[in-house]
Amino acid sequence: DELVSQIAAGEVVERPASVVRELVDNALDAGAREIVVKLMAGGVRAILVEDDGAGIPASELPLALKRHATSKIASLDELENVSTMGFRGEALAAIAAVSELSIASRHADAPHAQRLDARSGELVPAARGVGTSVEVRELFFSTPARRKFLKTDATELAHCLEAVRRHALARPDVGFAVWHEGKLLAQWRRAPLEQRIRDALGEDFMAHSREVTAQPTGLRISGRIGLPDAARARADEQYVYVNGRHVRDRLISHGLRTAYADVLHGGRQPSYVLFIEIAPSRVDVNVHPTKIEVRFRDGREVHQAVRHAAEDALALPRA
Ligand code: ADP
Ligand code: MG
Repeated sequence: DELVSQIAAGEVVERPASVVRELVDNALDAGAREIVVKLMAGGVRAILVEDDGAGIPASELPLALKRHATSKIASLDELENVSTMGFRGEALAAIAAVSELSIASRHADAPHAQRLDARSGELVPAARGVGTSVEVRELFFSTPARRKFLKTDATELAHCLEAVRRHALARPDVGFAVWHEGKLLAQWRRAPLEQRIRDALGEDFMAHSREVTAQPTGLRISGRIGLPDAARARADEQYVYVNGRHVRDRLISHGLRTAYADVLHGGRQPSYVLFIEIAPSRVDVNVHPTKIEVRFRDGREVHQAVRHAAEDALALPRA
């Protein structure tokens, strides 16, 4: 059973950044307004995510660590229209299978917090305000083969920071702070979207990008896309969100590349932050366990809409 859990964990937990991603997802689902991420050794030694969300009643803490236990959907029907980040109830169980995990939480109705140690199952009183702290130590300590695949701490740290940045771009209404080894690496305060983009991606990106906004039938497209002359050799500043969820989608990136096709040469890549809102029934987010891929019901329409929105924003002729 332990082995089965560890194999299943491999689908969800690839590296420290995957843990950060899932824990921040949960914090957002819990309605957090402020999220603090504290890392040691690039997240390999320790990841602590603290939120001021709704918290978990002590009686439900053990359930949070069970596989396929989710408080977020109650029926197959809801699966179709899922709006929370998590919904499979896999993440915490998967992370706990390959680390030393503890979770301290205080629900609004509770007189104090309780801490649950995943390994021992021990539940003890703890001190914290309303909200949840999840601590993940020694990732992959019991699966050395997996641990060997981790890169340097600096690289893992960069991925962790990137995971938080991806969330931060989608949720300017939430404050984020990232600490590493006791030093504050990044702090993004609650702000309007444009300010959040500026904070997260920098003045340079703002100066070399244009606002995009379009509302073709059944869709809403917004964000900023980089000017062709600011294109880079690497695709490291491409952020796409579908209904607030960060995704990697070939269809959308292809739509954008098509818009730029005539003006970008030599494999250079445009930067962009693109938000797509679409009726949940027209997109399947349940394709992949890490939820990073989506499937559109009308792929061609989305492709064309994205392409046209980009062409308009850049004042390029529509092809
Ligand atoms: P999922 O997010 O898919 O439901 P997870 O394994 O990530 O599954 O989390 C399991 C459950 O634990 C959640 O459904 C939620 O009830 C609870 N939980 C986890 N993290 C938090 C948090 N930060 N705040 C409140 N509840 C949480
Ligand atoms: Mg989750």
